[in-house]
Amino acid sequence: MEAITHILTGVLIQVLCFKYLLFPFNFLLTMLLAFLSHFIVDTLAKITYHTPVALKDDKFWVIWHVITLVSAVGVGIVFFIPYVLGGLFANLVDIWDWGILRPLQNKKKKENPEFKWGEGYFIHPIIDWIRDKPFYWLPNWNYKKKAIIVEIITITTLFILISFFLLS
Ligand SMILES: [Zn+2]
Repeated sequence: MEAITHILTGVLIQVLCFKYLLFPFNFLLTMLLAFLSHFIVDTLAKITYHTPVALKDDKFWVIWHVITLVSAVGVGIVFFIPYVLGGLFANLVDIWDWGILRPLQNKKKKENPEFKWGEGYFIHPIIDWIRDKPFYWLPNWNYKKKAIIVEIITITTLFILISFFLLS
């Protein structure tokens, strides 16, 4: 799924934890559940439009990613201060794998192409395993353009739930 879905899931988790739990459990459970939510959301990404590689020549791919990126930034700004904890921890796996480990690995590989540094520290292979083993029965719609509907429904539902719990 896209970053916006991860952020909204993290925000919802934080809203619920801070509404129903006392310190320090609201903080601890937000961090733990938001972190774990990445595994579930990424597993469910199997039934959303999510090509493993960027299709920069495909108009549909580009437009969809511009929309989700702009909304992720928008949602990120709106929730940044009060719900940064949930939003951040829900994206921790991506930040670690793609933002820290991969660039570090590329840097090391430039120095020595034979070096297999850091390969065992990626978290996404665990998610791939969850997708392929316990959730093998989910259809793979990663290349189906209409599968953006699944993501749009998910994002809308998260928005409604967050608003509901914030206002109630
Ligand atoms: Zn991920």
